[in-house]
Amino acid sequence: MAAMSLTLPVLPETSVPPAEGAPQPLPGILDVPTDTLRAWLAERRQPPMRISQIRKQILANRATAFEDMSDLPKDLRPELAGSFSVFSTKVEKHMFAMSDDTHKLVLRLADDKMIECVLIQEDGRATACVSTQVGCGMGCVFCASGLNGVVRNLTVGEIVEQLVRLRNLTNPTSTNPDRAPRLTHIVVMGMGEPLANLDRLLEALAVAGDKHGLCVGQRHVTISTVGLPAKIRQLADVGKQYHLAVSLHAPTDALRTQIVPTNDKTGIPAILEAADYFYEKTGRQVTYEYVVLGGTNDDPTHAKELARLLAGRKAHVNLIPWNDVEGLPYRRPVEGNLQGMIETLHRSGISVKVRKRKGAEIDAACGQLRRQLEGSGERGEGRAKIGEPIT
Ligand code: SAH
Repeated sequence: MAAMSLTLPVLPETSVPPAEGAPQPLPGILDVPTDTLRAWLAERRQPPMRISQIRKQILANRATAFEDMSDLPKDLRPELAGSFSVFSTKVEKHMFAMSDDTHKLVLRLADDKMIECVLIQEDGRATACVSTQVGCGMGCVFCASGLNGVVRNLTVGEIVEQLVRLRNLTNPTSTNPDRAPRLTHIVVMGMGEPLANLDRLLEALAVAGDKHGLCVGQRHVTISTVGLPAKIRQLADVGKQYHLAVSLHAPTDALRTQIVPTNDKTGIPAILEAADYFYEKTGRQVTYEYVVLGGTNDDPTHAKELARLLAGRKAHVNLIPWNDVEGLPYRRPVEGNLQGMIETLHRSGISVKVRKRKGAEIDAACGQLRRQLEGSGERGEGRAKIGEPIT
């Protein structure tokens, strides 16, 4: 979550870590399989339609407690509360950038792992930036999310909960043209590699797209990937209109492998072929993300090589000046180099933008906060091997 991390005032909503020997948390209802829920309701002589009522209450009506679900029978509500929780996550930390209404949440999962998600509000848009994994297994050398490797994939409910919690921070009665009353966009650019958890992500995005729920249209969803060719093709084949962003970060395999270690196994040509396939199949132009690391991948030669690489493709380049991560030996590009890159790409007919940083108070890259709160150790600790399958 490159441009979306903040160091901000802490708001009061925080949770206390469960004590040793505390009772098991109740299952979050968004992750309970429909069949299980149907059977649970049948035991209480309740019709299956209660399931859609409950879901609508959480996804559309902003209910955060069963007690508030006024269309459910009064006796059923405490029973639900005794067996399930509305959310399986707890807000560990809530930060708010007053300058631009950006919110950042650190969520504690039922197994005490932490993830981060962000709400960005500008120009009438409310964009949720969500995580798909605890940690990340891709090992990009400049990124805080992968410093301790990947722990596990998030469940569908955990992905949806991030969206719901962020949506609940929007103002439903907003008449300000700059502030949307609900979520309008989703960027899957938080912690983790989205395509390594593709099936669950797709399920979560289907929930997000439901007209009677969060109602975020497919064309307003961007999935960012390190570049897993087989998964990019799979995504192209599902027939959805999601937007794809590929984290390229270097124009040659030699340099990319230094910055993005998984490139060793894939290589740029296979990624570009898969991205071209995505464009052919979906008609949606691919964005190439390029984290600009001062003195590493930002000189005029790199810009020219990048322009050559993308020539003839209907591509858009998003330059992301590196956000400092404590303890990592990189630096932001100097203005001249960034401008030079923009001009070289423009001259080659490639559309290019520099990603804005959100929140004037921003100074820590995403993934760092979770590490601080978890008291994480050195790089590599608990790290799954790169490319190793996880669940
Ligand atoms: N695994 C996905 C999502 C990562 S986050 C991917 O690789 O695309 C989204 C974007 O932010 C990626 O392009 C990632 O490389 C970039 N990013 C991560 N940490 C960053 C940092 N400290 N500064 C700038 N960009 C960063």
